[in-house]
Amino acid sequence: MAEFSIIRQYFQSLTSRSLASQSLASQSPTSPASADVGIGDDCAVSTVPQDMQLVSCVDTLVAGRHFPLDTSAHAIGWKSMAVNLSDLAAMGATAHSILLALSLPKIEDAWLAEFSRGVADCCKSYNVQLIGGDTTQSPTLTISITALGWIKTGQAILRGGAQVGDHIVVSGEIGSAAYALRHPNSALQSTLDYPQPQLALGQSLVGFASSMIDISDGLAQDLGHILSASQVGAEIQLEQIPIANELAQLSIDQRFADVLAGGDDYQLCFTISPDHFQRWQAQCAQSSVTPVTVIGQIQQDMTCHYFYQKQKFTPEKSGYQHFA
Ligand code: ADP
Ligand code: MG
Repeated sequence: MAEFSIIRQYFQSLTSRSLASQSLASQSPTSPASADVGIGDDCAVSTVPQDMQLVSCVDTLVAGRHFPLDTSAHAIGWKSMAVNLSDLAAMGATAHSILLALSLPKIEDAWLAEFSRGVADCCKSYNVQLIGGDTTQSPTLTISITALGWIKTGQAILRGGAQVGDHIVVSGEIGSAAYALRHPNSALQSTLDYPQPQLALGQSLVGFASSMIDISDGLAQDLGHILSASQVGAEIQLEQIPIANELAQLSIDQRFADVLAGGDDYQLCFTISPDHFQRWQAQCAQSSVTPVTVIGQIQQDMTCHYFYQKQKFTPEKSGYQHFA
């Protein structure tokens, strides 16, 4: 099957289906755009809503490096999308569309059908359209996705805004995907295969959080990016970090290796003043955003101190290194 029939058979419908389901009347002020031109021309054309900035990112997943080789095609489709939407979530942005560059060693219909179904399911769950991409042959299965979204001008939540005295907060449970990677087919497998980008939570924090990042390379490393960008330090109470029951059974060292250095969580880590946190909670108490937990405080001294039940704790590893 040639490149064009792959595009037609597996991907073209993802633009038209989502375009058809997105009538102008149903669009909220924060997600007002539909792709004016989707798959099929040289480029996609999208209308940027007034008073909004374009927020964009790209992430590449390489088979055997970013997901185990036996990962299901459906999960690979979902996860490639989700990791990019998670970056948009970390800015507080509203997701709009994605471009998918797919490099395949060979054409397998069953694989492509499942992969595109995974992409489609994630598009549907987060109201995002596939507006274009590229399809090529290469020795290693590689998926590179570009995600596009919007944010009100000047409102993006950056890494550099943390202030001394802010709470440090995480969403959901941390370390589950790292556990799942070491224990294939455990009850936590879906946290590894089907990460849930926290777009609604991220958007709800616009105007409240002082800094934010998504946890992709391990909490210690990703929090470290906030601390260095903000020129501050932190104190973390490890027992406050929410974990799944499976992790609670592990030795302390293994548990906090998964929590601090595991990666693939795709939860949000943000800082927020105690006053803003109270106001955000009052406003969001009724909504169904993912639960969040305060795990520490921002401090002046530019290092990160970890405590477990009031005792100082030194982590063994610091996080996923892409070129290690
Ligand atoms: P060009 O040669 O002009 O780059 P292509 O033949 O690569 O065009 O692509 C034709 C159309 O199909 C374009 O609109 C492109 O965005 C889209 N497309 C190609 N591959 C994919 C893919 N894997 N997923 C979604 N859209 C794709
Ligand atoms: Mg092309």
